[in-house]
This record gives sequence, structure tokens and C-alpha cells, in this order.
Amino acid sequence: MRYEGTVYRPPSEAGSLIIQLTIGCARNTCTFCNMYKDKKFRIRPLNEVAEDLEMARNYYNRIQVRRIFLADGDALIVKTEDLLYIIDKCHEYFPEVERISVYGAPKDIINKTPQDLRRLKEAGLDMVYVGLESGADEVLKDVKKGVTSAEMIEAGKKVREAGMVLSMTVISGLGGKKYWQEHALGSARVISAIKPEYVGFLTLMVEPGTEIYDQVQRGEVELLNPQEVLDETELFIRNVDAQGTVFRSNHASNYTALGGTLNGDKEKILAQIEASRRRSSFRPDSFRGI
Ligand code: SF4
Repeated sequence: MRYEGTVYRPPSEAGSLIIQLTIGCARNTCTFCNMYKDKKFRIRPLNEVAEDLEMARNYYNRIQVRRIFLADGDALIVKTEDLLYIIDKCHEYFPEVERISVYGAPKDIINKTPQDLRRLKEAGLDMVYVGLESGADEVLKDVKKGVTSAEMIEAGKKVREAGMVLSMTVISGLGGKKYWQEHALGSARVISAIKPEYVGFLTLMVEPGTEIYDQVQRGEVELLNPQEVLDETELFIRNVDAQGTVFRSNHASNYTALGGTLNGDKEKILAQIEASRRRSSFRPDSFRGI
């Protein structure tokens, strides 16, 4: 396989074969993200991607590959016919594969027809990861996500209606002190409307080289402390209504680990929050990671 630059994948794809179908992120505007700042976006020629799959098969000739993640930032920008071709190639070289997944940008999901998404699902695209980041329009605008909460809901519902598994991420603290309540309530509203299979909470990490880093330095964005992050998460949990959605806040960026299945485990999650608040023992910033 040939990899270009740093390759990112969701934590739950740690054991997956990663194949770069695109390089970088087509948008690259989000103020908090520096994942693909060093890459100029492009879709790789399909024959190169197919060659990578063949190379991977030769490399893993005695190893069963159960999961494939098509990187980089947004494989769903690729034309449906081309995606179908690559999914077929995944099955050709790895007949044992059980799950193929991608990151999906909301606007690219909206640009696909319901038929496109159903064909992709039937071909074997099983799971889509969408960075909601926030369900508050004020926050989405400030961080230059380029999408509204209504578009997030439309995209999320389309993925679910196509029968794919949907995993969404929210970034705790993204609204800063100014918008923490809007962030919690807006995110609860969007997750309630979509009811994805999974919602994962990361916690904002402010990296040098990002626009938000400079905003923090200039005092334009005030970050939440760990106790305030808990307050924000509590407000989300109290207001979300997403029966069956698995909630996880156990990423390396989080100050504390929380988890449960909504709505039944709400009291359990609130008890975890309260216990963490009382202990006041949080992962130190030096141990937090992306
Ligand atoms: S958060 Fe996602 S959409 Fe935004 S710049 Fe990073 S990869 Fe691109």
C-alpha cells in the first residue's frame, strides 16, 4: 500500500485496512482542525486505489481482513459509480471483508440521491462517520464548518434511511464559554432528530497552526475547563432523546470517560458525570490526544 501524508481514521477503525481513496479534505476550512492542512485535496485515480488493494492482499495473504476504511477526509465526494467500482474491488481482493466504511461530509451525502446511497449500501458500504461537531448553528458558523444544523439533520437521516450504520461525533467545548449552552442543546436537538447508531463525544484540543488556536491566544474564544465540559455534557444528556443511540465519551481527548445507551442509560450516565464532578480527577492536558 502507498500512503500519502498522515492518515487519520476513527478510533473504532484501529484494526482496519486503510486505503486512501481521496487525499486530504475537500473543504479544509474548519477552524479547529489541522488534520489535512498539509494536503491539497484530490481524488486518486481508481486504478491506483485498485493497485493498493491488490498490494494489500499480497501483503496480508495469510491474514483475514474483516474491515476496510476508505480514507481520507471524505470518500463520499467520489462519484457513486466510481465508489461502486472500488467497493467491488474491495470484495474482489478481500472476499472475507465484513465492513467497509468512510468519513462522509454532510453536503456530499445531501448531493447523493437516496438511490445512490441505497446502491452503495447494497454493494457493501456499511458505515458512515459524520463529524457533527456541534448542532448549534452559531457554533457551526463560527468554526466555519460550512453546514447548517438543518443540513446535518438531512444528511444524517439520508444515511440512516439507506440502511447504513451512522456514527456521529460532537466536540465538547467547541462553543467555548460563549455558546456552551447552545452547543449542548443544539447537539441534543440534532442527535434526537437523527438518532444515529453511535454518537461519540471528543473534547476540543486546541492545536497550534489552527485558526481557533489564534482566537484563543487573542482572547476571542474562551475555553471550558473540565468541570464546565461536564456541565455541558450533562445538559446534552438531559435534553437528548435518541432511543437506542450508543453514547461514548471515552476518546483520548476526553477529560473523563463516560458511556451508555440512550435513553435507558441516561441516569447511569448522569451518575457517571456526578461521580466525575465529585472526584474532580481529570485526564491531564498533557495526556490528552487526538
Ligand atoms: S473537520 Fe472534517 S470537514 Fe473540517 S477541515 Fe477537518 S476534515 Fe475537513
